[in-house]
Amino acid sequence: MVESIVEFFKNLPPKACATCGTDIDEQHECYSNQCDSCNIL
Ligand SMILES: [Zn+2]
Repeated sequence: MVESIVEFFKNLPPKACATCGTDIDEQHECYSNQCDSCNIL
């Protein structure tokens, strides 16, 4: 049931960076809780 998985992720709230509060583009699952910019630090 692939559609169920899609719906699951659709219903997830958007992640926000713990450091700057920017919405995180969740293309990479390796992100913890920081945006691309803060993740470099
Ligand atoms: Zn950030």
